[in-house]
Amino acid sequence: MITRSRRIVQRDDWTRQLRDAIGDPDALADYVRIPRNQLPGMRDANRLFRLKAPLSYLDRIDKGNPDDPLLKQILPVGAEATRAAGFSPDPVGDLAASPRPGIIHKYHGRALLVMTGACAIHCRYCFRRNFPYRDQQVDLEAVRAYLTAHAEIHELILSGGDPLTLLNTRLAELIEMLESVPHPRTLRIHSRLPIVLPDRLDAALGRLLGDSRLKIVLVVHANHPRELAPDVTVALRDFRPCCDALLNQSVLLRGVNDDADILAELSHRLFGAGVLPYYLHMLDKASGTAHFAVAEATASDIHRRLRALLPGYLVPRLVSEVSGEAAKSPLF
Ligand SMILES: *Cc1c(COP(=O)(O)O)cnc(C)c1O
Ligand code: SF4
Repeated sequence: MITRSRRIVQRDDWTRQLRDAIGDPDALADYVRIPRNQLPGMRDANRLFRLKAPLSYLDRIDKGNPDDPLLKQILPVGAEATRAAGFSPDPVGDLAASPRPGIIHKYHGRALLVMTGACAIHCRYCFRRNFPYRDQQVDLEAVRAYLTAHAEIHELILSGGDPLTLLNTRLAELIEMLESVPHPRTLRIHSRLPIVLPDRLDAALGRLLGDSRLKIVLVVHANHPRELAPDVTVALRDFRPCCDALLNQSVLLRGVNDDADILAELSHRLFGAGVLPYYLHMLDKASGTAHFAVAEATASDIHRRLRALLPGYLVPRLVSEVSGEAAKSPLF
């Protein structure tokens, strides 16, 4: 049988790269060549949410520039200790929507499964920075029972933590379980690894996904065009035949991508890698992230300009997540 993964070449061992990720603030300062004393608050903020970034990602940062948009996404800063009105530990009500450990079932027909708390990179703006992952020990038999009892669920979404930090053997168990239930048609994977650690898109993963009877949707997560380094583009293009849809979601972040020209360039580069823009999320109001927030009026202006710059198929939907709503809420 010719598998859909036949084009993927040998990749470097991603598990080693994951282990080698930088987790020490001083090591980060040295790597990006910024004097440690120019990064005040880094050590304190690191105690709130530990720094983590793979070298593959750090190599795309402009050295010596504390305002680099890729650096800002991972650099612990003093502003994270600021309390801001409206910002809370669980801004989107995930804990209330969890019927079983690991399962979040908020939207019709789609259930989200958090199988791991681990990520390859710690994004400072992430709403899950305060999430009590320790409580989420996933039992696949319990997930099977839940799916079986909910015949309307046609899509299972693996989300963060980052599901592609799981080994292929664990993902294979999940796929086998999912295929044993008759009604789910689609497996969707939300992951930042294809962007920050492109070697994760290896041939074994391609076979695992490409050979499943399930429709496979891979939603990657890039916020800035410079994240689409040449090796990322190659890995995504090679992987495309293994998926039925290859999409991107971004978060609108002050000082990173709150600019229509930057977002337009991101869309063009994604398309060059075979990826279509899906969502542009308003920041979820998690404690410690207020300095990344973009006002709604500003976001709408940026999105209007983006619509004028791009063909419709390259415009991501600007949405926010409102606790208790039946879907993501559009903002335009
Ligand atoms: C965002 C989200 C989904 C997926 O929503 P789509 O609009 O289908 O992309 C599903 N479940 C939860 C809990 C979500 O937060
Ligand atoms: S869940 Fe996604 S956005 Fe959050 S820290 Fe992990 S990779 Fe980053």
